[in-house]
Amino acid sequence: MTDTPIPSATTLEFLGREHGHFIDGRWRPSASGATFDVHDPATGRRIARCAAGGAAEIDEAVRAARAALTGPWSRFTAAQRSAVLWKIADLVQQDLQRLCELEVVDSGLPMPIAQYVCGMVVPEFFRYYAGWPTKIEGATIPAAPQGKLPGEAISFTLREPVGVVGAITPWNSPLPMVMLKVAPALAAGCTLVLKPAELAPLTAMRLVEICQEAGVPDGVVNLVNGHGEDAGAALAAHPGVDKIAFTGSTEVGRMIVRAAAGNLKKVTLELGGKSPVVVFPDADLAQVIPGAARACFFLQGQNCMAGTRLFVHEKVHDRVVEGVAAIARALKIGPGLDPGSEFGPLISAAQRERVAGFVAAGRAEGAEVVCGGRAPERPGYFFEPTVLARTRSDMTPVREEIFGPVLCVQAFGDDDLEQVAREANSTIYGLSGSVWTRDLGTAMRMVRLIDAGQVSVNMHAAIDPAMPFGGNKQSGWGREFGKEGLEPYLKTKGISMTW
Ligand code: NAP
Ligand code: MG
Repeated sequence: MTDTPIPSATTLEFLGREHGHFIDGRWRPSASGATFDVHDPATGRRIARCAAGGAAEIDEAVRAARAALTGPWSRFTAAQRSAVLWKIADLVQQDLQRLCELEVVDSGLPMPIAQYVCGMVVPEFFRYYAGWPTKIEGATIPAAPQGKLPGEAISFTLREPVGVVGAITPWNSPLPMVMLKVAPALAAGCTLVLKPAELAPLTAMRLVEICQEAGVPDGVVNLVNGHGEDAGAALAAHPGVDKIAFTGSTEVGRMIVRAAAGNLKKVTLELGGKSPVVVFPDADLAQVIPGAARACFFLQGQNCMAGTRLFVHEKVHDRVVEGVAAIARALKIGPGLDPGSEFGPLISAAQRERVAGFVAAGRAEGAEVVCGGRAPERPGYFFEPTVLARTRSDMTPVREEIFGPVLCVQAFGDDDLEQVAREANSTIYGLSGSVWTRDLGTAMRMVRLIDAGQVSVNMHAAIDPAMPFGGNKQSGWGREFGKEGLEPYLKTKGISMTW
């Protein structure tokens, strides 16, 4: 085994801080003095300690965010908000090494993926939203209010920031999850209170500092660390919050909706998935095999878009299963900081137990374990990439979101596309999906039949800042990314004037 490199001095300095809450432009501890530990999932070791906030800290942060709505931030021109978003992108790139190391030791992803995410995905996303402030426009409306004739009145709309946004995010891919809320909120002129996942809060904390360094005024971006049932629940219920932007499980999504009902907050939800990958016999297997492996095993399967249900036509079934299993067996498992690691740990021991439980349930229900299925003997929360063949839609690992590296394969012999789509749609989720074929007619019919917010053809989970993304059915409410991702952060005021 290679010696795992030690993070750089700036990263070690950051890890060693007494991490508090970022409220009104400065770090402060919890009133209660309560803390929680942050662990490196590749070793199980504690790497940082954070203040655990609750209702008191959330209340302070919401007050700061409300006050900031009418402070200097409200006098920023659209071009100035745009410049701030560009600056955030530049500062993310300047701080790349530290952000990557923090993301790797906190969430367990391999370094090349962290470099791609922090060096490309995040800055490009901020630059995309930097383009929006100067293009947020209302409309003139051909109305005749109270019988006024043309020339006697004018009616138009103003787009205004929705107000104070409460953003609650999960631990898988922590920095992009926070970016998805911060960029459109700032583009629209909102203020925010972030509650990052307690399992991986580090890059969110660095990002709020970067926002401040980029010229965002005090109180515009606030962050409260803590547990979901304390800090998260207090944020979702707070009457001073106008909108909740939540990413996480479907189960917690329901709790958010209930908590938000008090003051009828606007709510957007990005929830779980169980996405189908459908392979037709004419598909290019040289594309399909690595594509299907990546669709499931990217981020160790801890990815809402993961293609975890592989439907393969029986004519090519064995070749596809063997090919994907060969890739899974060859993936180099190891800590993200080790050069050459391709497959990191799961986020926690509890998550590893959960994944192992789904594999055991699949075995007991008659699935065949083609590869993986075990936790390797080593420190950290690793679990081998696993392929389960001969699965059926009623089996536990096929029905439920595992959020781990377990691919469930089902063969189909049917040439009736509606029947294939019915199987692909036989889940409560509808987030993503992909179709693999060289036949344009098959592709276009399947694209229409699959009930998901995103369908890709001959690729899986094609993400771009400009492309709307979100869930149908119990995978969510609303869309992120693109112009549609900006809309939930705006409200419309209708104005009519006469003289
Ligand atoms: P989770 O358990 O639902 O937690 C998400 C966030 O909600 C965390 O910050 C959590 O705090 C907080 N939370 C927990 N209980 C809460 C409550 N009662 N009130 C308010 N907030 C509460 O999800 P997770 O395990 O972190 O993440 C995995 C899930 O996220 C999967 O289902 C995955 O599919 C989904 N996801 C969806 C997308 C998408 O775009 N659709 C993207 C990524 C992930 P803690 O810090 O205490 O956990
Ligand atoms: Mg962690």
